[in-house]
Amino acid sequence: MPELPEVETVRRGIEPAIRGKRILSAEVIPDPKGIRTLRRVRSAPAFRKNLTNRIIEKVDRRGKYLLIYLNHDEILIIHLGMSGRLLIRRPSDPPDPHTRIIFHLEKKLELRFADPRKFGEVYLFSPALGETAVNPLDLGPEPFDPEITSAWLLSRLAKSSRPIKAALLDQYLIAGIGNIYSDEILHASRIRPDRNASSITREEADRIVRHTRRILKLAISKRGTTAGDGVYRDSRNQPGSFQNHLQVYAREGEGCYHCRSKIASRTIGGRTAHFCPECQK
Ligand SMILES: [Zn+2]
Repeated sequence: MPELPEVETVRRGIEPAIRGKRILSAEVIPDPKGIRTLRRVRSAPAFRKNLTNRIIEKVDRRGKYLLIYLNHDEILIIHLGMSGRLLIRRPSDPPDPHTRIIFHLEKKLELRFADPRKFGEVYLFSPALGETAVNPLDLGPEPFDPEITSAWLLSRLAKSSRPIKAALLDQYLIAGIGNIYSDEILHASRIRPDRNASSITREEADRIVRHTRRILKLAISKRGTTAGDGVYRDSRNQPGSFQNHLQVYAREGEGCYHCRSKIASRTIGGRTAHFCPECQK
């Protein structure tokens, strides 16, 4: 699933192309189950009508959500789900498989939302109408937000009895971290993923904060992780390269680069955690 570095890479890819452009129309490919949020929040015809002739003012990101700000104070929210792609295309480009929505823009440009597995979310969010499935503006702070310090993190973990891995995955604690980067952050911080969050020390919280920023920054510079499933692609349909830098994620049974012990995996809160039993305590 795309996490902060992948979504940020997509944001940086689409923003220069679509900022300031007018949406001529939004073509929702007819498929009753194609986009789950459009069923829940606003019907496809209303969605299309509301988008016609709107101007894209900027493209922002909160956690794993893309926020496309439109004139008249509405936000087009896109969550890539498990397999969503946002592609910048020309009308003459060949069709992309599993395209769910084509945003036809002025200057012969298209923004295509393709999503084979249909876990993606697309909806218009109007703060005035209170109309939202998830309000991305309510998520926890961004990892690069100066509000996040080791003391801040420690105070939030102290009240929690869940595993530290589950806490890092909580989008209302810190936004943007998913399964891949939580594994990598905990390995770099030398903390087992099943440690109780309330047992984390001040020094360990400091390591988590530092390595979170370092790893996410590095992953953005490598244009994200395209894991073994090959699903994640940027706005030009290109894979990322951070998979070449992973220390533990999806490496169970292989040797730890640090101590050569075998990387272990176990299920924590329904997610598979990967870790080194020697390096991580
Ligand atoms: Zn190790």
